[in-house]
This record gives sequence, structure tokens and C-alpha cells, in this order.
Amino acid sequence: MAMNENEVNAFHWLADMLESVEVGLVVLDLEFRVQAWNGFMENHSGITASRIRDQILFDVFPDIPEAWLTRKVDAVAMLNTRAFTSWEQRPYLFKFRNTRPITGTEEYMFQNLTISPLSGTTGNVEKVCLMVYDVTDIASSKRALERANEQLAKLSMTDRLTGLKNRGTWENLVDAEYERYRRYGHATSLVMFDIDRFKKVNDTYGHLAGDEVIKHTAGMTLNNLRQSDSAGRYGGEEFGIILPETDAEGAKIICERIREGIEQSVVDTTAGPIQYTISMGIAQLTDVPENHMQWMQQADEALYAAKKSGRNRVMVFDA
Ligand code: GH3
Ligand code: MG
Ligand code: MG
Repeated sequence: MAMNENEVNAFHWLADMLESVEVGLVVLDLEFRVQAWNGFMENHSGITASRIRDQILFDVFPDIPEAWLTRKVDAVAMLNTRAFTSWEQRPYLFKFRNTRPITGTEEYMFQNLTISPLSGTTGNVEKVCLMVYDVTDIASSKRALERANEQLAKLSMTDRLTGLKNRGTWENLVDAEYERYRRYGHATSLVMFDIDRFKKVNDTYGHLAGDEVIKHTAGMTLNNLRQSDSAGRYGGEEFGIILPETDAEGAKIICERIREGIEQSVVDTTAGPIQYTISMGIAQLTDVPENHMQWMQQADEALYAAKKSGRNRVMVFDA
């Protein structure tokens, strides 16, 4: 199989290109001894081809998942067909530091991997070639996009002014809590509350100062809740709270704390110091409401009663 001069030249050029191509090329025999190791692999691993030659890959890179790669390579050799894996299944095979200046946010190089069978003169697969593609740019932009989408999903569930859950999100939670009660029968309470004489706050101090008061209400509410409670901004200056595992008596204690805290605070707004109060209605869930809307109506009725009997108070729904 002698080559003429042209063929020899072409072979050398090809070898030069494989040496400098921006893809990692590794040839392994079926015992995983390294037979070839191109410049890309040298540059990123810091290990020269002459040093790694004939070494068992797993001895030099103990981090490589041996069972997984063995299974892949065995299948490639047996079926004489290529195999691919993407960074989304396994972020990398070789743990190389990410050296790209632009995608420097990622610590390691993300890699796609192709494993190709290499046949000997007999036609049997005697070696395999690993092709390691640096896909850090793609991976990091995809991950940034996912993070942005998560952020966006979160924003669309919260009320901008207060950071509380918005009405739609909160109502869904009320519905879920209603269904949970139906299944397990645990005590659970709903609170609806509203700022007293808020029109007057707006009229006296202006809308922006009014917004400061609404933010203050949200802060005071959150300060008095547990992790498992959910507070939402139901409307302009109307709020709701779900208190799981809480009966009316327990809810009353929490509500009194919020009501009293608000009564005793002074909100420092740009239009001057503002004092205000809230009225609150509580409904502990029973078997009477036929859906979550009826449960909310009960809390709203209790709130209405609190308003009617003088405001700045907490009332419990009474059937
Ligand atoms: P009550 O004690 O009966 O609740 O009296 P109220 O004046 O608070 O009456 P109501 O709850 O009906 O008033 C709601 C007012 O809240 C009307 C509206 O101008 C004001 N409001 C609604 N949303 C906002 C908001 O986002 N910012 C501000 N600053 N005001 C709002
Ligand atoms: Mg109102
Ligand atoms: Mg009001």
C-alpha cells in the first residue's frame, strides 16, 4: 500500500489539520489505552500526546465515569456505529476549565461528544475515536435564557408594587388549599383585609404616599407570617392571606398581631408621616362552602362586618 508523493503530502496536511482543529480528537484501543491525542486535547488538559500515549484513559482522568463510557464504547464497537451525547445529558466528559473570555461565566467547558468506530484492515472495529466539541457558548446562552425565563415566570406571579403574590396566583393557591382541605380535612383559615379610609389617605397625601402605605401593609403582613402562609395583593388596597394548618382562633392571634402592628406604626412618606389602620375578616374552612369562591366570600363577609362595626378590628365569619 505504497503512497506516491502527492498522497504522502495530502496525508501530512490532513494530519496537521487534525492536530490543530478546534475539536478534541482521541483515539482509544478497546482497553481504553490512548493511541492518539491531538493539539486541542494537549492545550486543554496540559498533558502532551507523548506522555499520555498507551496510558489507560481512566488512570489519567479518574473523574471520567468509567462504567458509562465503557458501556458507550462497547456498543459502538459491537454495532460498528457512531454514538453521540450532548452537554444536556452530561455537561462534559473531560473536566477542562473554560478559557473563553466571553463565556467566562461558566466554570467548565461544556462538551458534546461523538464516539466513532475505527476498523482495522480485517474490517473489525479495533479502536474508537472520541470527538470532543466545545459547546460552552451554546450551553451558557441556553442556560442564561432559562434563568431569564424563570425570572420572568416569577415576575408574572408577583405584584410589582408589593412583591406579594398577585391576585390570579393567590386565588389559585386558595383553590389548591380548598382542595387540600377536601382531601385531608386539616384546619385551614382564610383572611381578607382592607385598609381603612384609604381614599382619605390618597386625598390628603397623594397617590404616591398612598402607594408607600400599601407597601408598608405588605411588609407588616410578611413580617408576621410563616413560610407556609401565602399573602397576596387582592386588589388596590385589599389583601388576602392563606393560613394552612390554622384554625380561626390561631388566625385571630396572627391577625391581631398584624392589625396592632399597623395601628402602632407611622409610615414616613415624602408627603409626611402617615398613620393608618386595617380591618380584617377571617373564615376557617368548613364543609359548607362548595368551592373556593364561597370560602373567599365568607372571609369577605367577616371583613364587611369588621368595617361596619367601626373598623380597625378583626372579625371571624360566623354562619
Ligand atoms: P374603607 O374603610 O371602607 O375601606 O374606606 P376606603 O376609603 O379605604 O374605601 P375603599 O376600600 O373602597 O377604597 C379604595 C381606594 O383605594 C380607592 C382607590 O382610589 C384607592 N386605591 C386603589 N388602588 C390603589 C393603589 O394602587 N394606590 C393607591 N395609592 N391607591 C389605590
Ligand atoms: Mg377597598
Ligand atoms: Mg379600604
